[in-house]
Amino acid sequence: MEEKTKKDAWPDFRSFMQNQCSRVEYENWIAPIQCVKTYNPTTLQVPNVFVQEYLLENYQDVLTSFFSKDKNGKPLITFLIKKEGKERKKSLAQPKKSKESEYKNQFNNLYTFDNFIEGPSNQFIKSAALGVASHPGKSYNPLFIHGGVGLGKTHLLHGIGHFINRHHKKKKLKCITTEGFINDLVFHLRNKSIGNMKKYYRNLDVFLVDDIQFLQNRLNFEEEFCNTFETLINSCKQIVITSDKPPGQLQLSERMIARMEWGLVVHIEMPDLETRVAILQNKAEQANLKLPNQIAFYIAEHIHNNVRQLEGAINRLSAYCHLMHLEITQDVVDNTLNEMFQPPIRSKISVDRILYTVSSMFDVRESDLRSTSRAKEIAFPRQVAMYLAKELLEESLMKIASSFGGKTHSTLLYAWKKIAKQLEVDEILRRQVQMTRQNIETLL
Ligand code: ADP
Ligand code: MG
Repeated sequence: MEEKTKKDAWPDFRSFMQNQCSRVEYENWIAPIQCVKTYNPTTLQVPNVFVQEYLLENYQDVLTSFFSKDKNGKPLITFLIKKEGKERKKSLAQPKKSKESEYKNQFNNLYTFDNFIEGPSNQFIKSAALGVASHPGKSYNPLFIHGGVGLGKTHLLHGIGHFINRHHKKKKLKCITTEGFINDLVFHLRNKSIGNMKKYYRNLDVFLVDDIQFLQNRLNFEEEFCNTFETLINSCKQIVITSDKPPGQLQLSERMIARMEWGLVVHIEMPDLETRVAILQNKAEQANLKLPNQIAFYIAEHIHNNVRQLEGAINRLSAYCHLMHLEITQDVVDNTLNEMFQPPIRSKISVDRILYTVSSMFDVRESDLRSTSRAKEIAFPRQVAMYLAKELLEESLMKIASSFGGKTHSTLLYAWKKIAKQLEVDEILRRQVQMTRQNIETLL
């Protein structure tokens, strides 16, 4: 037998949720639900099917701990969709969002192009972002930026926003997180004002969307997003999207994936050692911290997979040194940043190891990769090896180049750029390089 729902289950559930979610989430999703029957079965009246879906998708476990469950462990709840007429009255009583507040974007003041430090690994992305901001709708459309956490996606998105606000004052611009878009959609569905929302989004000149991965598995929202997307793109309005994965790896409809691949897809990577040092120096300057160069190198060698952590390191160091009136030395750094340091996995990687792994992946002889042969089937894997060497080794370009049988550092840089560019568009190569990289790193 299933457990009986307690009398106070609904108020208890609501107060639990009030503490559990953000205010916006609570107001949009939970507050509009009414419990019209407490048990046998519990009946919840929701303003639309999205709220029901949202609840079941995100809070099934919470629901079953407050309400009774069926033999499959699912919450024993009946949902009723609120009728149009009643809802309309309610929506009239709702305060309307003002036009200005809708167009107001919350940009982080620090996330400007000027504050974005460039290096070989992100130069291409920054110039693509700048291109889009300079000529919205006229260069790459959509621009799709993907990459791991803390690598500067949101920074670039806001950078585009700041730039357009400054140089194209008349453009109607909206920068929103995917969650914000969904919340907006729910708000308008609840108020039966979806027409206004459509009008608003489809009239934009520039639409900047952060973290599209949160649209995954939200079928109903995806459709509205896709329609907005198509309307804007078809009238040459600029769209920029960020994501933690490339379009093809997102669990979205084929239609949506194809649309996102229409323009330019760029991958943002962790900056190389020199750029990380430049970022540290820049953040130190902002924090009024005197950071000796060799210490910046030391930190950058030990924090190599997230720019946000580089910032965190500076903040921590700055607080410690200011409070304790200390000069920065390696000992001070070791004491304060020890737990943030990541093992230097790359120290064991060598050009030999890269050539060995690339030769087996691309089925060529290692000796050919070291030779001067220009045959395409050898030159291409050699360029991939050079690309990986530059990505994975923390040595100077000159030193790496000389390990490739005396090549110059401009040959190496050329190879790196060529492969980096091709990786943006060539999914098969991307997979090959990814696998080679994994083999290099895991077989150590
Ligand atoms: P993501 O959106 O990719 O998770 P963010 O854009 O939030 O990452 O960036 C994380 C932090 O790192 C931000 O404070 C951002 O300013 C900083 N950052 C990232 N890349 C750079 C860069 N190239 N130059 C300066 N700061 C950067
Ligand atoms: Mg982000």
